[in-house]
Amino acid sequence: LTVPYDPNNIFGRILRGEVPAAKVWEDDHVLAFMDAFPQAEGHILVISKTSTARTLLDVEPDVLARMAVATRRTARAVVKALAPEGFLIAQLNGAASGQTVFHLHFHIIPRWADVPMKG
Ligand code: 5GP
Repeated sequence: LTVPYDPNNIFGRILRGEVPAAKVWEDDHVLAFMDAFPQAEGHILVISKTSTARTLLDVEPDVLARMAVATRRTARAVVKALAPEGFLIAQLNGAASGQTVFHLHFHIIPRWADVPMKG
């Protein structure tokens, strides 16, 4: 939880255009893009374009609010597009929790009761 923000993390590189990503929605503050190793069809990640928060503990409240609204907006669009039976919002903090990219992000993972999650 105490690692410093590394601007060369993969999401930082996506934000700088150094690494391609399949963007699904963005505004001046938030970017939503497809997870490159999806745990289910339609797995999307939502990140801040401006904050260098690594985890939920160090994000600014206004940034968190924008991310939450964008996550719900994107989840609505995924539900409309793919008609899942449900969707999971996940957000990991610290390597011990399974976090691998230390740029705060929310996962949107569509769920179907009879389709197990991958990975
Ligand atoms: P975490 O485990 O940190 O919560 O999630 C990191 C997520 O980033 C994983 O679901 C992983 O598949 C995804 N990811 C890792 N590298 C890339 C990449 O280069 N592009 C995209 N779009 N997603 C990535």
